[in-house]
Amino acid sequence: MVVVMAPDATEADLAEVVTRVTGAGGEAFVSRGESRTVIGLVGDIDRFHGLNLRALTGVAEVVRVSTPYKLVSREHHAPSTVHVGEARVPIGPGGFTLIAGPCAVETAEQTLQAAQMAVAAGASLLRGGAFKPRSSPYAFQGLGEAGLAILADVRAETGLPIVTEVVDAHDVELVASYADMLQVGTRNAQNFALLAAVGQAGKPVMLKRGMSSTLEEWLLAAEYVAQRGNLAIVLCERGIRTFEKATRNTLDISAVPVCQSLSHLPVIVDPSHSGGRRDLVVPLSRAAIAVGADGIIVDVHPHPDVALCDGPQALVDGDLRDLAAAVRNLPPLVGRTPVGAPLRVG
Ligand code: PEP
Ligand code: MN
Repeated sequence: MVVVMAPDATEADLAEVVTRVTGAGGEAFVSRGESRTVIGLVGDIDRFHGLNLRALTGVAEVVRVSTPYKLVSREHHAPSTVHVGEARVPIGPGGFTLIAGPCAVETAEQTLQAAQMAVAAGASLLRGGAFKPRSSPYAFQGLGEAGLAILADVRAETGLPIVTEVVDAHDVELVASYADMLQVGTRNAQNFALLAAVGQAGKPVMLKRGMSSTLEEWLLAAEYVAQRGNLAIVLCERGIRTFEKATRNTLDISAVPVCQSLSHLPVIVDPSHSGGRRDLVVPLSRAAIAVGADGIIVDVHPHPDVALCDGPQALVDGDLRDLAAAVRNLPPLVGRTPVGAPLRVG
């Protein structure tokens, strides 16, 4: 059961609902979205009915949500827009947002060059991993905090807010002190301790789909973040494991409209990690736009031959024109406006 608060509800109104619910032996999880605050109730529904919460000041609606994920469900909730960084770059309905950057932050120069490539392609957010979740313990694990500092410098230089991954619940505070948006990767998509921690970090979250997660499992993972108070979540389809070996993963393009029908959260696509091949990135980006994605996240690298991570899927300078054309020209055909680079802040 979910209590939807009115836009003008006060903190005292909220507290009253929480007090009544806990007094009835239930639990109340307050989640603050940009447009409204909702309270997820866990416990004996019959007792909640007896509380007549609808009659309390500041309560707009009390609804029963039929899906197992309550706070992120599309039931009784219009599609959300998530805003990122000081520039408040939007990701959501009506717009189309390009996130681009290197897979991993390697050096200051490489990251700045990749950010300039991102801008050239029409990006409004910069991606780049400082903590890398690598399959092999012998592979480059990322620069850690030094990488975060590089991202912050590049943000200062370019004005692009930064999206970066956190792989360990203990690092959430550190990463959140630099990042504008926290990324949870496919390998951690069901790391519930991490999901709960990012839910409390006060920064928007980009949640990738687990490589073997069903859509329901993915939305329940998002529910862990939402339940800790944070509804600023963007879902990212990045391909799933199938029997097909020609591509790194199989892009489940239908996940985009299906998730948009099940959840109010924005859905973006990662054509780089899905295909795993540079030549597939632009075609898959076009597919993502056509199917109605709210954005895409793309790897770019100034010198992919020497990249320390995922070079084969990174776009190079010569590919940017095609990506930029797709991002500029195709969204209007499906009723969306490209978001574009943020106005310089600070
Ligand atoms: C990434 O985006 O850098 C990444 C590791 O992606 P995924 O978690 O989808 O593999
Ligand atoms: Mn990668």
